[in-house]
This record gives sequence, C-alpha cells and structure tokens, in this order.
Amino acid sequence: MPSDPRTSLLRATHRLALLLPFLALSAFTLWTALGSTREGPRGARAAEPGGWERVERHVAVMGTWLRISLEAPTRAEGLAACERALRAIEEAESRLSTWRDDSELARLNAAPVDEPVELSPLLRTELERARAWSRETSGAFEPALAPLVAAWSLRTGGDQPSATEFESARDACGLRCWAFEPSVVRRLHERAGFEEGAFGKGASLDAALAALDELSWRALSIDLGGQLLEARHAGPVRRLVAHPDDRAMPVLALRVPDGSLATSGDSERGVFVDGEARSHVLDPRTASPAPRRGSVTVWARTALAADCLSTACYVLGPDAALAFAEAHAGVELVWLQDGPRGLVARCSSGLAEHCEALPSSAAPEIHVSTHRDTSPLPPKSEPIAPR
Ligand code: AMP
Ligand code: MG
Repeated sequence: MPSDPRTSLLRATHRLALLLPFLALSAFTLWTALGSTREGPRGARAAEPGGWERVERHVAVMGTWLRISLEAPTRAEGLAACERALRAIEEAESRLSTWRDDSELARLNAAPVDEPVELSPLLRTELERARAWSRETSGAFEPALAPLVAAWSLRTGGDQPSATEFESARDACGLRCWAFEPSVVRRLHERAGFEEGAFGKGASLDAALAALDELSWRALSIDLGGQLLEARHAGPVRRLVAHPDDRAMPVLALRVPDGSLATSGDSERGVFVDGEARSHVLDPRTASPAPRRGSVTVWARTALAADCLSTACYVLGPDAALAFAEAHAGVELVWLQDGPRGLVARCSSGLAEHCEALPSSAAPEIHVSTHRDTSPLPPKSEPIAPR
C-alpha cells in the first residue's frame, strides 16, 4: 500500500525531531574523537602518518544521520570504502525498515497467516540473531513487538491504548506468533509483526562492516543515529556517553576496543501512563512501557548484539542488567541514573579501568560492579555467542 505523502512527511518530521538530540551528541562525539578535521558534505580528507588518508562522509539515511570516518592508503580507496558502507546501510534499510511498506520485513509483516515465506539469507540471519538475543535475555528484548508499538502509539508520540486494544495487541506479540522452519517463516497470527526499532541500526552497522571486509582501510568509526561501530583501530578508542536527560551533554568517557556502543534510555519518545511519564521501551512482561530510569550504554563485539542488549538491559533495570553483563563475556555496560547526591554511573567490571567521569557539574560518581574480577575486556578473538 503506497504511503500518503502527508503521512510520510509527518513521519519524516517526527523522526527528525526524535533524532535531533542524537545529532548534537554525535557531532560532539566525533569532533572530540577525531580532532578538528573539517568536513564537507561529500567527504573530506586529512593526511595520516605513513601516507594513509582519513576520509569522512556525513549523510542522511534511514531517517537519521550517518557519519563514516576511516583511513585508507589513498583518498580514492577511502571514498570507495565509505560508499560501500553507505550502500550496505541503504540496502539494510530496504530490507528492514517497517517505516515503509516495500521492505522485505514489511512484506513479511503483511504475509497472509500460515503462508510460507522464503526470506533472503541476510534477513533470515538477522532475524535468527535477534531471536537468539531474545532467548538469551529471557524475552526482555522481543523483536516481534509491532502490535504493542502500534497500540501504545510509540511512533506518533505515545498514547494509552484502550483495554480491548491492549489485550488484542498483547495476543499478537511475541515470537510464539511466528514459525521459523528450516527454509521458510510463517506468520501465525493475523496481527503479528516484527519491529526493527531495537535491532535495525545494529543490523545495518554489521552489514556495513561486512561489506568492507576485503577492502584496504583502518581506524573505522561509524555513527548511525547515535550507535557507534569501531573497527581495525590500533588500540582502544575513547568515546563519550551523554547525560541521560541531556543528550548534548557528555558526562563520561569510555575506552573501548573494536566493537559497538549502543544506548537506550529516557527520551522525549516516552508515553504517559496514568499521568506518569514512561519510556519508549516496552517491558514485554507487562506489555507496557518500562519506567523511566536513566540510560544504559552497552558495549558488545557486534552492533546487532549491542543494539538488542541496550534495549534488553533497559527493560531489566540496573541490577539485573549488570548481572547479565557479568554473566556474559563480551558484554559490558554502564548505567547512568540520578542518585541522592547527583548522577551515578554503574559500570560492569570489565569497564573498571576504562570509564572516566568528565569534569563538569554533572560529573557522575562511578561505581564498579564487583561480581567478576576479570577487569580487562575480552580479547578480540573471543567468540560472542549467540552472534
Ligand atoms: P532502543 O532505542 O534501541 O532501545 O529501541 C527502542 C525501540 O525498539 C522502541 O522505540 C520500539 O520501537 C522497540 N522496542 C521497544 N521495546 C522493545 C523491546 N522490549 N524489545 C524489542 N524492541 C523494543
Ligand atoms: Mg536497541
């Protein structure tokens, strides 16, 4: 069904409004991380030691802002690599976005009940990975949540559903409403639908990295709407984490190895339930918006994992989220929340030596989890299961 142009414009404006705080933070993050390299709209360069050049591109994509920065032996190779990453992200959008009707995932969401649907290998893998993280988080991350996202009007500012609407959306949610067979997927409920909001950016970033695999480049940073992907750096990189109430105000610096940082948290994207402001993240156990409680930033080796887990950890709350990170090699997190004496940062033990409060009036008090005594982050070769 083609979209009404006014609806599309409304959605685009809404999405832009949601993303403005991320844009400000992203700009600050990259400016700090990369130094004062000036960029033009089509990319720019800076000479690096050893003759390599830094190339950057800033573009709008997926209703958000994409920044790619890398070093390559020549400017032409750098631009070609940026272009390839951008293409992969655009392809991911046409596969995963349910903001449009013609993506592969939107078509799956509209398939007649019980009809066998053969998915492209990429979408199949992405959904399998999302399912695996759903299992691993005991359903705190739930990719088959579209009916509840619609019932709570999460894409249009939030609204409390009627009791009937709520019950019927709840019935249609969850992976139990989908059958994954060896070569096909079937929709088992007439309202069942996948929602890519909590894993689409991560999947896109992983697709961009995979597309660059055999090219010659290093020191890659991609910022897709606030989620970061880092690859082939010579050592850990320093990245900033914002105040949960003010995404333009960095309050923490993390030093992390190659991998991805994703944040879930309070934002203007919330809803009101019985007069109380709640998050845009839904707690699948109650089928209702989670309480607003600061923000959680998750580091994981892959971007899809970081994306799924930031959402899951927000649902779980700080204690359970920290316990989850301690129990999973290759997952680290920092939770930022107001405490009695100001902002508190609770870090998983792997970040103990890698988390620094930035000097400001909002500098958080840092508390490190003591459950695990292996302070260094896991080695690069360590497999992350499920991928
Ligand atoms: P994020 O900002 O990555 O935490 O993703 C939040 C978005 O994911 C929401 O706007 C919803 O579209 C969707 N979502 C909300 N709650 C969940 C959940 N528990 N599991 C998976 N997706 C969710
Ligand atoms: Mg997420």
